[in-house]
Amino acid sequence: MSEPTPPPGHPYRSVLLVEDETALAQALKIALARLQIPEIHHATTLRQARAILAKNTPELLILDRNLPDGDGLDLCRKLRKEKFDGTILCLTAKGEMEDRVAGLDSGADDYLAKPFHWEELAARIRALGRRREAKPPEAEKERLWKVEPERLRIHG
Ligand code: CA
Repeated sequence: MSEPTPPPGHPYRSVLLVEDETALAQALKIALARLQIPEIHHATTLRQARAILAKNTPELLILDRNLPDGDGLDLCRKLRKEKFDGTILCLTAKGEMEDRVAGLDSGADDYLAKPFHWEELAARIRALGRRREAKPPEAEKERLWKVEPERLRIHG
């Protein structure tokens, strides 16, 4: 690999933030820049997000659910169907258990309910980045399938 190694725990080079609350979006953009993510896109609607995704392939998608033109989870499902390989972190006021399950079942990698502390979001982004860095997606999938029956036995 000839590319320079990204700073430890911050391997994302591009992010698309889909958030319609202006003040929160502003704060998040500043915070993401502090995480040294060089390329930051911002959309306030699903339509805008799709337009950006048609031209860019962000490595990280931070996705609000309650958007002016629909539910962020619909975009999440669509992207996974299209084999979008980036990390998807759902960010939402819908923090109930059923909503978190729906988020993860839609292909999100993680789910964070508002209001949240910036430090927690930053830590999750670092953790997601480490996982992404450690294993190629296919190897990860295979490993998870092997682990799953064990988990089911423990909890079942
Ligand atoms: Ca919203």
